[in-house]
Amino acid sequence: MQEKVADYIRKMKDMTAQERIAFAYQEFGQEVVFASSFGEEDQVILDMIAAVAPGLAVFTLDTGRLFQETYDLMARTQEKYGLPLKVYYPETAALEDMVARHGINLFYRSVELRKLCCRVRKVDPLRRALGPFKAWICGLRRAQSVTRTDIDVAEWDAANRKIKINPLVDWDLRRLQTYIQEHNVEVNPLHRQGFLSIGCACCTRAVQEGEDIRAGRWWWEDPEKKECGLHQRVKAPAGDKIEGRDQ
Ligand code: SF4
Repeated sequence: MQEKVADYIRKMKDMTAQERIAFAYQEFGQEVVFASSFGEEDQVILDMIAAVAPGLAVFTLDTGRLFQETYDLMARTQEKYGLPLKVYYPETAALEDMVARHGINLFYRSVELRKLCCRVRKVDPLRRALGPFKAWICGLRRAQSVTRTDIDVAEWDAANRKIKINPLVDWDLRRLQTYIQEHNVEVNPLHRQGFLSIGCACCTRAVQEGEDIRAGRWWWEDPEKKECGLHQRVKAPAGDKIEGRDQ
């Protein structure tokens, strides 16, 4: 798999984001899926998919704790692009058990409980959603946070055992916003209120000028720990830049 991923990196590194998406669709067909959380990057990728790979499968995760603005954007985006969007939910019994044991707002009490909530509401549904696919497309960018500085255009996602493709990996915020303006891409109105990275309502706050883009996510935690598990990565062994290990 290492060689395959290295080959994808070689082929895609000088492509445009649209070419990367078209390449992924050509390579994997119905076995590649785009996971959208309706953030700015995801809206840009959806716009590109509609243009260059309209048959590509798309899903999202509804944690049950999203902002109303996110649900409204989801509905408008579905309507605009005529998307066959599949929505995945947490498993009912696991969710009920977690809330019964730890309370409805468990995430504020410890990193462990926050990660438990992210696992039940996001990570486990993600695994279920990715099940039938060989590869998934994400809106990750290196410039987004300290936890994402070494991502590549293609990676082996060891936790989910899929190839992960990041078409916007080398985009900066300015390039992203230019695309949004030039292509009239609709984005979450919360971005204008300082919510740069938007997740669950209870775990996201607006950020101040100069703060890291993801500073508003789980703001009460150490920045090094601020991933929900959807994009957790393991350092490659020495001499191997792309291989990961199971989490
Ligand atoms: Fe739970 Fe917060 Fe993670 Fe959402 S972001 S799944 S509410 S801990």
